[in-house]
Amino acid sequence: MVNKKIEKAINGQIREEFYSAYLYLALAAYYEAENLKGFGNWLKVQAQEELGHAMKFYNFLIDRGGNVALQPIAQPPAEFPSGSKAFALAYDHERKITALIHKLYELSRSEKDYAFEQLLHWFIDEQVEEEAQTLEIADKLKKIGDHSNGIFMLDHQLGKRKAPAE
Ligand code: MG
Repeated sequence: MVNKKIEKAINGQIREEFYSAYLYLALAAYYEAENLKGFGNWLKVQAQEELGHAMKFYNFLIDRGGNVALQPIAQPPAEFPSGSKAFALAYDHERKITALIHKLYELSRSEKDYAFEQLLHWFIDEQVEEEAQTLEIADKLKKIGDHSNGIFMLDHQLGKRKAPAE
């Protein structure tokens, strides 16, 4: 059984993970509208991964006899600043998510919920990767600036990302 405090926190995190998927999908649409389909591919795969994160929390709550109460998902931006700044938003967002995961971890420790703590180990590792990969792309874009050759090369590379295994 999860206690009510943890149940509430997990329901909040399910919402955050769905919002992450929404944000990546909004970014995908922004780049795809610019015909940068490789960026679109990478971001749509990322959106799928975020749905997977939401489902990990959902399944955990169900398995522990908690109640899943889905909450409204905030609207992501419909417009983004041009160039590297759009991707920098993704990095900033991941840093925010990392802080939320760390808060959940602190809660798991203070409530002595060891199963929840164990689940969060996976998310703590995952956030290291999420920050690293969004920062890498944001930094590359910054270096590329307005050089279209570099943008097309990066677009080609990002187009190769495969969907997560089911
Ligand atoms: Mg996530």
